[in-house]
Amino acid sequence: MSSYRENKDFKINIPKHVRMILGILEQNGYEAFAVGGCVRDTILGREPQDWDITTSALPKQVKALFHRTIDTGILHGTVTVMLGHIGYEVTTYRIDGEYNDNRHPESVEFTSDLVEDLKRRDFTINAMAYNPTVGLIDVFDGMGDLERGQIRCVGDARERFGEDALRILRAVRFSAQLGFEIEKNTLSSITEMAATLKYISAERIRVELEKLIMSDHPEKLITAYDTGITKVILPEFDRMMECPQNTPYHKYNVGVHTVKVLQNVPNTKEMRLAALFHDVGKPYSITYDKKDSDRMHFYGHAKVGAEMTPQIMRRLKMDNKTIKTVTRLVACHDDRPVSRECTPEAVRRSVHKIGKDIYELYLQLVYADFQGKSDYGKEKGYDGYLYTCSQYKKIIENHICTSTKELQISGKDLIALGCPTGAAIGDILDTLLDEVLKDPEKNNKIDLERRALDLISGTAQ
Ligand code: ATP
Ligand code: MG
Repeated sequence: MSSYRENKDFKINIPKHVRMILGILEQNGYEAFAVGGCVRDTILGREPQDWDITTSALPKQVKALFHRTIDTGILHGTVTVMLGHIGYEVTTYRIDGEYNDNRHPESVEFTSDLVEDLKRRDFTINAMAYNPTVGLIDVFDGMGDLERGQIRCVGDARERFGEDALRILRAVRFSAQLGFEIEKNTLSSITEMAATLKYISAERIRVELEKLIMSDHPEKLITAYDTGITKVILPEFDRMMECPQNTPYHKYNVGVHTVKVLQNVPNTKEMRLAALFHDVGKPYSITYDKKDSDRMHFYGHAKVGAEMTPQIMRRLKMDNKTIKTVTRLVACHDDRPVSRECTPEAVRRSVHKIGKDIYELYLQLVYADFQGKSDYGKEKGYDGYLYTCSQYKKIIENHICTSTKELQISGKDLIALGCPTGAAIGDILDTLLDEVLKDPEKNNKIDLERRALDLISGTAQ
């Protein structure tokens, strides 16, 4: 083993299973360490996503020592050791060969030297290893960078980004998750190399982009813009950053406003994506006021956004369920059900139109949208928003019907009452719902059947 700084006194808490795996490997004459994200997160007091283990044992030697293993990436040296229901990735110390395509090493080579394995890792804070007997191995001052709150490449930044361009986006992702700054030289190399992200698959980009926007610091998306990253992976965001909003409702451009909205919605995938795309149609919906030619309008931007959103999300290989929900939220985000008349009926009709399943999400998006506006924009309509929230609460608490599914009469009932099969059933249910939205008291079997009979006799004529 080559020499490196060890810190035996440094102790971190590692789970029992991980200690067991490290212990078994060591007892059999191999070296083994927890490595990467789990060491970083534990030192920061954050919950690690998973525990990765790096070892001098070759994959077949790892497999010989554990009862249940899965060949996860045996060619790259990774074996998953199953303990209970949890899998732990155990990877042999590795040196990556030449990178000729900005994303993959041509070959990998196993090594018995931990330092060689740490050298291939992306950032100093991700290149620390720990085990309870040896302590912390920190060859590149990852600890110092954790203290400084800094993302810095292991070795020469340009070279490292040249090997695997995804690291360019990962740097911004980690800075967003940890609230860290990117070290100066690493940052300038990002700007220099951002265009090479075009060689990276949409799937790998998606993973990092989602982590970035779901983080505690989604505002780092602006760093992705400043460095030329979004120009490659999300040019629509560049259009938003370049789109001013000369209206009394706003004080930021569309991009900065979008970031404010990202910061104010819950950090679920659907909500963060809905926030990201809610105004994506604005740059394409600009008109100028007839009386005041400086003043902008964005009529119809939600509709344009709802057309663009699924296209962008499909390009980023996102799943259909998420695409559907996010697109619906983008389409309705600018609806203001009570801007004209503040009535319970107007809110019921809005819940019907938008859907009970996403109404809560819609309200969260509208709330966040207000937070990103000017003081005037924040005030204007806020009473209406609060009224909508209170009426929505009543609808849920009192199980008030807002869809044909919730009517106390079904298509089958209509047929039993003599309704001809086909389109008439849907038409009658729609009419009944319309009347129930006007007056929820009418959602009872007696009234509905009586009214249905009238309507059926109407269709028979
Ligand atoms: P997360 O909390 O998102 O899992 P992580 O640091 O564990 O963060 P992973 O993508 O799971 O990130 O990768 C595990 C480790 O493998 C990293 O900490 C890093 O040491 C190394 N690594 C991952 N991807 C790369 C890459 N593209 N280039 C170099 N090293 C990488
Ligand atoms: Mg990980």
